[in-house]
Amino acid sequence: MRVHEFQARQLLAEAGVPVPSGGVATTIDEAVKAAETVFAAGGSIAVVKAQVHAGGRGKAGFVKVCKTVDEARTAATFMLSNRMVSPQTPPEGLAVSRLLVASGVDIAKEFYVAVLTDRSTRRNVLIASAEGGVDIEHVAETRPEAILKQPLDPVTGLHPYMARDMAFRLGFQGKTVAQAADIFLKLARTFIEKDATLAEINPLVLTPASAAHPEGQVIAIDAKFTFDDNAMFRQKQVQAFFDPAEENPSEIRANEFGLSYVALDGTIGCLVNGAGLAMSTMDIVKLHGGEPANFLDVGGSASEEAVTEAFRIILSDARVNGVLVNIFGGIMQCDRIARAIIASAKTVGFKVPLVVRLEGTNVTEARKLLEAARGDIPTMQTAGDLTDAAKRIVAATKGA
Ligand code: GDP
Ligand code: MN
Repeated sequence: MRVHEFQARQLLAEAGVPVPSGGVATTIDEAVKAAETVFAAGGSIAVVKAQVHAGGRGKAGFVKVCKTVDEARTAATFMLSNRMVSPQTPPEGLAVSRLLVASGVDIAKEFYVAVLTDRSTRRNVLIASAEGGVDIEHVAETRPEAILKQPLDPVTGLHPYMARDMAFRLGFQGKTVAQAADIFLKLARTFIEKDATLAEINPLVLTPASAAHPEGQVIAIDAKFTFDDNAMFRQKQVQAFFDPAEENPSEIRANEFGLSYVALDGTIGCLVNGAGLAMSTMDIVKLHGGEPANFLDVGGSASEEAVTEAFRIILSDARVNGVLVNIFGGIMQCDRIARAIIASAKTVGFKVPLVVRLEGTNVTEARKLLEAARGDIPTMQTAGDLTDAAKRIVAATKGA
């Protein structure tokens, strides 16, 4: 699960990481008020930032550093009336309905720091770079040696000596070493305590020297967190951050019915049971020249209503020009799938080719049901095995 920057900043602030204050706005007027608050408190910069579940905002013009209330008004007007397009958004971009107007800081240097799970070493790892900011992806691609890593202890997490060592390797000096190390420890602790899958600060900034801070200050000015969906039962605060407006509506509907659905870019809708079978189905569709439109796993215990809803979701995708059903009935009974196909044919209708491959529990009964309903489902073909099914759906949708 993803959350907004302002929510991630709240978690950081609660953990004791220095984060500039700010206010959330959904209208231009609210944004102007929030900017006035920043300047009234003595700030010289207000930063207006689009709150969407995608990065790359700076380069897209959706993070604006403003020196006056008027500049903040212009920035807010632009952001609330244009879709944001960045390499991290769909091509049509994302609508912006929320802004963060934060107190800005002067920047001497930008760093990157994150805690995430490194699957290859099976450890949580602190990664950091002295070349943080909006070009971090480019740095990671062209100069991987500029990305520093420190694995966390699997049991005891990040130790203070590891955090200090990382601060030194990044080039922090004097009093800022302890400031940076403290932030790394708090970030690592938050990652574990909140069941995060990513806890990222980019940029973590060092401010220029000032009278109050002769060596500068280390501050987080952007935050991106993602969380383990399976941990939400014990993460009520994080769960409350869920913003349905940022999610694919079909994925939300599927979720309500206990289905796992992920929209993809292709044209062949797939209804499968079990994640492993779903992945092999997508592979075999691709092997035979098709492109899956989705990943939909109905699981073992979905009811006939849930499976019918699954068909409704697949068929409501305008790009779908064929549907492949591939079920290996173990706990799932094939006749339940057959009944859902028949119900869907009545309520939604299969206007596109449908290929059905059923095997396993109650398959004989399921085949009888489908045979009897064949007249009501003219676009249906039945397949003997998975290869046959993939070939049939690809052939049926070619040139469609
Ligand atoms: P992102 O592009 O979506 O990651 O958005 P960020 O919040 O990271 O902002 C992008 C860039 O805007 C940062 O790397 C900074 O260079 C700049 N920026 C953001 N906040 C401030 C600020 O308070 N002061 C200054 N001077 N620049 C900022
Ligand atoms: Mn950033």
